[in-house]
Amino acid sequence: MDELAALRQFFGFSAFRAGQQTLINAVLSGRDALGVMPTGGGKSLCYELPALLLPGLTLVISPLISLMKDQVMALRNAGIPAGCINSAMSMDELREAYTDARYGAYKLLYVAPERLLTDGFCALAQELEIPLVAVDEAHCISQWGQDFRPSYLKIVDFLQQLPRRPAVAAFTATATAQVRTDIVRILQLREPETVVTGFDRPNLRFDVLRPKDKRDALLQLLSERRGKSGIVYCATRKSVEQVCGFLQEAGFAATRYHAGLDTEERRKNQEAFICDRSPVMAATNAFGMGIDKSNVSYVIHYNMPKSLEAYYQEAGRAGRDGSPADCILLFSSGDVTTAKYLIFNAAENEELTDEDRQIVQAQDLARLEVMTGYCKTQDCLRGYILDYFGQPHEKICGNCGNCQAEFETRDLTREAQMILSCVVRARNRLGYCVGMTALSQTLYGGRSARVRELGLDALPTYGLMHAVPRTQIREWIELLEREGYLEANPVHGGIDTTPKAAGVLFSGEQVLAHVRRSPIQEPGPKKKAPAPKADDPLLAALKAVRFRVAQEQHVPAYIVFSNATLLDMAAKRPGSMEELLEVSGVGHVKAERYGAAFLTEIKQYERTHREES
Ligand code: ADP
Ligand code: MG
Repeated sequence: MDELAALRQFFGFSAFRAGQQTLINAVLSGRDALGVMPTGGGKSLCYELPALLLPGLTLVISPLISLMKDQVMALRNAGIPAGCINSAMSMDELREAYTDARYGAYKLLYVAPERLLTDGFCALAQELEIPLVAVDEAHCISQWGQDFRPSYLKIVDFLQQLPRRPAVAAFTATATAQVRTDIVRILQLREPETVVTGFDRPNLRFDVLRPKDKRDALLQLLSERRGKSGIVYCATRKSVEQVCGFLQEAGFAATRYHAGLDTEERRKNQEAFICDRSPVMAATNAFGMGIDKSNVSYVIHYNMPKSLEAYYQEAGRAGRDGSPADCILLFSSGDVTTAKYLIFNAAENEELTDEDRQIVQAQDLARLEVMTGYCKTQDCLRGYILDYFGQPHEKICGNCGNCQAEFETRDLTREAQMILSCVVRARNRLGYCVGMTALSQTLYGGRSARVRELGLDALPTYGLMHAVPRTQIREWIELLEREGYLEANPVHGGIDTTPKAAGVLFSGEQVLAHVRRSPIQEPGPKKKAPAPKADDPLLAALKAVRFRVAQEQHVPAYIVFSNATLLDMAAKRPGSMEELLEVSGVGHVKAERYGAAFLTEIKQYERTHREES
């Protein structure tokens, strides 16, 4: 069987995605490979498909047990024999897996890196024919990556003690050059076929909102998305608790995940999310690496993450099956303060020297700066992300909040004069520059201890903007930064005027700002966002069938068919098995297993539909 036939037969896809074919050909011919593709780009297929065509067994090294379980379940469901070996299995289960592997029951075997050098596993590996070792989430091997796992370093020793070195294929979504070279160097890849695909995810719509009240905004966003599954990321455990609490109170089937919960609860909650019993997950960034749930239709960040890499990876968990999905970040300037706090109080890493630690901190601050820039830019959000990952793009993507927003030009000369002169006066009084909080409080006329201690309440500009909401004052200050009248010191946050400010303060220059109109920023009789299109009734019916089938088979719904597959099915309305196989994501085994139920539903639908019309 050739690759394309296997793609159709087992996975039900009609074409390869970017990069897949090159990587697959390389490993099939025995070469090493490195695949760098965004989350959801289809990395798994690059080793799953070769595993089917190669003799013997392909070993997949994967960092997370949950991820492993999920993938094995999906493969088995598609009729591909796969197994796994990890520390969560009982002795009996392990024994069974070893026996099955020994007599050749699997084409793919998933294993956790810390298992590799155990006696039992080494003995097994000596006996088997292993043409290919796939290393998933390979950035875990690099100290520079975000999820460094020392156990990944064992992979090299493991490979060395095999009777024959297999082809080694590494996969990651982390694009930085440093991580990439680390992977090749540490894993000792031999002239790997390297593919770095585009990082754009056109089906994701990006947006940044600055609501007056995040709680209200979140409730509003979720009520527009009832019945859909999504993740709400929060910066801290405490905020996960709060968010999960008020969502549940408002009647959403939400659950939570963070490192403060015990293993059992984490497992239970994750399961509830995966199976759509609790379609909304409130979580810290502890949740998600390896979450392959393909029907996540939105990822909302309740707080700004620490870096754009982290943001893109987390947001990228939406829309993995290619259907449209939203990535929304709720920003407030308090998020910057929290993020800095987290950077300066990061958990001590004992392996680092003081000097290393300072380097890491400086890197973190630089990354934070990039992230903050994303929240403040008025240009295309997708463009901002792709610029950062060094990928060329169109100027306007048309599918992000900024590209779709209406902008208006406002004369902010008076406001600018007030703010700039407040900065100058505070600096003259104190001999240094105050930060965002003190500055906005002074303008607002706030009574905080800090303002009084510093004597800022004695400035003539104190309370000059008492009629303006504080969030608005902050926005104007940020706008003046963006337009180059003010500049903030990224480390201690003091804000100072630039030479450009003099024109406004002393020569009557106008400040005309291009500001975005957004329904959440300014409630009132503004144009309402278009109501989301109601699900096509056939699609809804097919989803109901999927739900029933999933219950019967005790698997999560997306393992049966992805949303993308159901959408395609609703559009094509297959009338026979042959036609069903034309639907994207329907392979032979799945067609045989589930096809009848879906075909019956479609027939039924067409009959009643004809009677109605
Ligand atoms: P990642 O690169 O993040 O590991 P996955 O391998 O989990 O991504 O793939 C994400 C989704 O893309 C899965 O639902 C998978 O079935 C789908 N997919 C992969 N390859 C193709 C293809 N050639 N055509 C259509 N869908 C694909
Ligand atoms: Mg993956």
